[in-house]
Order: sequence, then C-alpha cells, then structure tokens
Amino acid sequence: MDRETAPAPPETSAQAAWSDAASREAIQLIADGVTRVAGFGIAAISVVRGDPGYLEVMAVAGSETAREELKGRHTPIEQLTQELEKADDWGLLRFVPHERLEPGLGETWGWVPDVDPIDDSPDAWHPMDLLIAPLYDDTGRMRGTLAMDLPVDGRRPGEAQRAVLDAYAEQARQAVIVALERQALADQVRMGEAARRIVRKATAQLSLERIVADSREAMIEGFRAAGMWLQTFDDVGGRGAIYSADGSVIELTPELVSIAETAARRAWEIQEASVVAPYVPFGDWLTPEQGEMILAYLASIGIESILFTPLGAGPQCLGNLVLTRAFGAPEWSAAEATMALDIGHDLGRAILNARTFEREHKLVEELQELDAYKSQLIATVAHELKNPLTSVMGHLEMLESSPDLNGTTLSSLHVMDRGARRMVRVIDDLLLLSKVGDPENRIIAAPVDLHRVVDDVIDLTMVAAQQKRLELKVDVPDQAVLALGDAEEIDRVCANLVSNAVKYTPADGSVSVSVEMAGSEHPDQVVLTVSDAGIGISQSDLERLGTEFFRSSNPAAVAQPGTGLGLAIVRRIVERHHGRLEISSELGKGSTFRVFLPAA
Ligand code: ADP
Repeated sequence: MDRETAPAPPETSAQAAWSDAASREAIQLIADGVTRVAGFGIAAISVVRGDPGYLEVMAVAGSETAREELKGRHTPIEQLTQELEKADDWGLLRFVPHERLEPGLGETWGWVPDVDPIDDSPDAWHPMDLLIAPLYDDTGRMRGTLAMDLPVDGRRPGEAQRAVLDAYAEQARQAVIVALERQALADQVRMGEAARRIVRKATAQLSLERIVADSREAMIEGFRAAGMWLQTFDDVGGRGAIYSADGSVIELTPELVSIAETAARRAWEIQEASVVAPYVPFGDWLTPEQGEMILAYLASIGIESILFTPLGAGPQCLGNLVLTRAFGAPEWSAAEATMALDIGHDLGRAILNARTFEREHKLVEELQELDAYKSQLIATVAHELKNPLTSVMGHLEMLESSPDLNGTTLSSLHVMDRGARRMVRVIDDLLLLSKVGDPENRIIAAPVDLHRVVDDVIDLTMVAAQQKRLELKVDVPDQAVLALGDAEEIDRVCANLVSNAVKYTPADGSVSVSVEMAGSEHPDQVVLTVSDAGIGISQSDLERLGTEFFRSSNPAAVAQPGTGLGLAIVRRIVERHHGRLEISSELGKGSTFRVFLPAA
C-alpha cells in the first residue's frame, strides 16, 4: 500500500453524496459489471468535480477493503494527466506499465493492492501497473475515470478482455456525464431558488433602487451571471430608469432600448424568458438583424449571452431584467429561464407597489403644499388687515371721547367700534389658527397647572355667565394637575370651550368644568372636561365640527355671534400637543367636550 492520495477536501470526504440516487446506482452497476464480467478484482469510477478539477471516487466494486479506502477520495486531475502522458493507447483505455512510472510520481496517485506478480513473464500484472479509462465528453473535457486493478487471472488484459473493458468504459462515460449534468441542473435550481428568496424579501421595500441594491448580489451569484440590468417602463409606455448591477447607469442606444421594450412586452404576453446567444437561434420576437446587433453590442462589452426576462404584473408588462454571461461561461439552462420568469413576476409586483407608493407620496406632498399655501394666505391677509384696523380703532376711541358730538354721531361711533372689535377678534383667531397650524412653529412644552388655567378662564367668563344666570360648576382636585405643553395655547383651549358652553347654553342653564388625571387606562394623561346643558349639536354637525369656519346648521346656534374658528383652533392645539379631543352631544340636551393632554 505505497501509493497515497492527496488529502480529500473536507466537505466530501465520505460517500459521494452529491449526486442523485439513480445516477449513483447506475454508476455502481457499471463498476460491478467490470469486476464480475471483465474479470477484475477491483473497479472504481470517479467523476471530475470542482475548480481546479479533482477526481472524486463515486463507485467502487470488488474488495471490501478497497471500497472502504477509496470511496469519496479526491485526487487532483493534474496528477492523472501527468501519468497518462506515458500511457499506451488502448482505445478508450490507457495502460501505464509499472516500469514507466516515475517512483515519486506513482506514489502520489491511485491505489495499490498488496499482492505480488504471479510470475516473471512480461504479461504478469504488477501491483503498480495502472489501467484506467479517462472519460471525456463530446467537447473533449475530462469528466471522470474508470480504473481497474487486480485482474483475476493475474495477467495484463489481452485483446478480448480489452474489448469488454472498452464497452464498459463507454457506458461509464455516458453515466458519468448524465450524473454530472443532473447535478449541475440541481445546483442551478438551488441557486436560482436562493436568488428568488432574496428577491422576494427585497421586494418588501418600496423603492426600486433599494430592491435592486438588495438583491443584485444574490441574482448575480444565483444565476452565475457576470452582471445584470433592469429596465422599467413608465405608465405611459415611455422609458424608465435602467439599473445596472453595480448601480451605474448603462448607456444603451435608443434603438436597443426600444428593441428591448418591444421584446419584453411580447415575452410577457407569451410568458417566456429567453436566451440571446450565439449558440441558439434568435426568438421570433427578434429579427436576425436585431439579434446580430444585440450580440455585437454585447460582445463589445465582453458579454457573450444574456437571459432576457420580462417583468410584469397581471396583463401589464412593466420592464425587463437582463442577466449577462461572459465568454466561456456555461450556457443558460431551461431551469434558469423558468426561475428568472418567476423572479420577473416578483419584481413586477414590486414595481407596481413602488409606483403606487410614489404616487401616493406625491399626492400627499401636493396636498401639504396646498395646505401650506392656504395657511400662508390666511396669515398674510390677517396681518395686512390688523394694522389699518388698529389705527381705525385708535381714531374711533379718540372721536368717542370728543366732547362736542351729538347723540346720533356718538351712537354711530359705538356701532363702528363694536364692528371693529369684532373684526379684531376674527383677525386674532385667524392669526392664532395659522400659528398653531404651522408645523415649523413648534411648541416649547413645560408643565402647565390646569387648576390655574381653569381659574383664569372662569374669572373671564364669569360676567357673561352671570348675565344669563348660568350656574358655573367647577370641579378641580386640591393637588395640582399638570399638563405638559404651551401654557398660552392650553389656556386658549380652555377659554374657547368654556365660552362656547356659556354662549350655546340658554339662560338659567348650567355649565361645568373639571380637571383630573385621566385614570388607570391612561396614567400619563390629564383630562379637561367642559360640559353644558345647552342646545346640543346634531350628529351630522358633530362630524364636521372643528373644520375651519364651520358653524352648525342649528338656528339657535347661528343666532349667536361666532366665526367658526374656535373649535378649529382647539383641535389644532390638541393635535400638536399629541392629545385627543372627544365630543359627545345630543341636540336639545347639551354637550360634553373632553380634552386629553400629556401629563407633565
Ligand atoms: P363659533 O362658536 O365661533 O361659531 P366654534 O368653532 O367655537 O365657532 O364652534 C363651531 C360650531 O360648533 C358653533 O357654531 C356651534 O354651532 C357649535 N358648538 C360649539 N360649541 C358648542 C356647544 N357647547 N353647544 C352647542 N353647539 C356648540
């Protein structure tokens, strides 16, 4: 036992488990035949795997010890090729008599049975003799070997025995090629599937750039591609962006882009991913001139072939995916084309999603712009009105205090003064509305004692309430109830609600105001409640309450002076404090407004 093999790569040192069971069985049967029919003590069939190539023993027949020792062994092809240089050419078989083996070289390859030659005659088998059939495929590439040892009669094989061995070598050749092809196919499917899983995961993203960035590596690896690019068509049939594998923009001529687009639409119709390569005829969606033009362009950037896949969703074709292979790379298989088309469906859906998202995003932006414009307009107009109005009021006041005015003039001045004051209130509300609706103008939050807020508001509304003989009930706990927010704005919320309650409650009614912690369900909130036994609000009005300038349709409410801005201001202030406004009301019975604010 003096010839040793190279150490096996760790992943397949045991049984050659990579191939499918049917292939393994077929190859084992051939090895068995060599021992039983051709009369050898041992036969081993190996296949070429890996890069750089090595021989891996796949089936051993004959001696149990040899089987144990040989199965799964790896030997670099290089060593075998060197030994074969000295071989006699016996058809498919090669024979290297032991005399020709260089001592050092021979020891590194094969398996040597522990026997002696039966006699001194020249045709006696020597344990160091090497009889092997290298198995080549149709392109002349070595794919495996059939090796035998220990002839039963102890002699080097004669003509008849060689013919039998030749027949087995041919069988072994075919079986090995089939096994390798099946394996390659299984590998492709596995890699393609891995790529598809990654693409699927990536399609959860909403931007196509991100999807391409996250899945390109997996696609290129999974499809053993040199690169990829992806073209999308926009809604109106124009050309969208082209994303290449490395993120750079690929400069395709307009003619190529247009061919690709027509081809993609046709390919989506017939649900087919197809190969454009010198080794296959062009699909019927390409004219020969177009095909040649594409191949010439590809060759100019070092690409031999492409797998062209349409992307789409439903009946709609949305783009195409192109995977490329350089010269000398393997040909595209049908399994890869199927996998690519599946990915085309995944990416198609992703493109649709990304588009919908983009559209919605744009719409929201437009609405926001419109809203900002409206706010800007209100703020500007209010500002421009305020200054002249202040001056009008100043002069009115001056005139009113003049001693030599008669009664009629004076009462006219009073009416003008009331009107001007009302205008000031509207303008102040407008200015406040635009201030609290401006996202740029953030609140500076601090603890605000609601107890104090309520007291101040009650002080201010007391007179109005007394005029209507309203009962004002205030319920606040002894300890401070602290909200977190802008004191002035929270004060405004309370004032608007209480003044509405007083305004929309008929004489002799009652209004109550209370503050408290929001309770166990919302321990981090405080609540301000303003309720009245007033005219109430109808269900349909409730739905629109809080939109700017909305006043209810109830004649009893319209009879009261108002602008329809008070609740809009309340709603905006509550929103920007991340609070919540709850309104419950019944027409003719009364209303309750509850404001939840973050606790300090
Ligand atoms: P304004 O009171 O200036 O009209 P608001 O924005 O404060 O504007 O209120 C909008 C509308 O909601 C009022 O016109 C009124 O119809 C209704 N409303 C508000 N508060 C009450 C209330 N406490 N009871 C009945 N209706 C109310």
